[in-house]
Amino acid sequence: MKYKRILLKLSGEALMGSRQYGIDPERLSEYAEDIKSITDKGVEVAIVIGGGNIFRGVAGASNGMDRVQGDHMGMLATIINGLALQSALEDAGIPTRLQSAIKINEVAEPFIRRKALRHLEKGRVVIFGGGTGNPYFTTDSAAVLRAIEIEADVILKGTRVDGIYNTDPEKDTSAIKFDDITFEDVLRKGLKVMDTTAFTLSQENELPIIVFDMNKKGNLLKVVSGENIGTKVKL
Ligand code: UDP
Repeated sequence: MKYKRILLKLSGEALMGSRQYGIDPERLSEYAEDIKSITDKGVEVAIVIGGGNIFRGVAGASNGMDRVQGDHMGMLATIINGLALQSALEDAGIPTRLQSAIKINEVAEPFIRRKALRHLEKGRVVIFGGGTGNPYFTTDSAAVLRAIEIEADVILKGTRVDGIYNTDPEKDTSAIKFDDITFEDVLRKGLKVMDTTAFTLSQENELPIIVFDMNKKGNLLKVVSGENIGTKVKL
């Protein structure tokens, strides 16, 4: 395997499958199987899960809700998703711990870096819920932050598109995909990979990001074994 320790970022929307809202149990169990295919090979896996399938603070604010209140709801949404993912992973036979950035002790362990590292070393998948624990941030920022903290080799951003294109491939059929691209070029061309806060944190810490299609079975294993699918953002 090319990567020994990875941070997988899954958006909340990814868990919806073909639904308009919430969680699709079939999609969850497909993800669990894919994740098992890499833990079986000894890869250490940490996951940051989003909450957009349930609530986003920005959406609340655009409807007149207090932004911080909405962000708290968003963070709780990520914990709901984390619990669902934990169940799916355990059903697939993978030992898993959910660590939360906000205190919710009856439900999830608090985030403790040393404990997270110990879990990873023991072959447990660690899910980080609650984002960064702060309003005005996103789970992409949480993904980069946790990846740096646990010294992950790479961030794998599982999406429904198979990489980074020069224009939106869902709207423009002539869009061209990059196999790899530098951080600077992403910023210069104004391409959307992650929000700017998350993206620059990754750049400053020289942490590569691979964007790939997580909805295609087997892709996760291919990426982790170093196959050239998706787009790699590097220095
Ligand atoms: N959120 C937050 N702080 C964080 C991470 C997330 O306040 O560190 C809130 C924010 O309201 C966000 C919501 O949780 O809109 C869900 O996270 P995100 O939008 O990143 O989820 P995704 O788009 O990955 O599903």
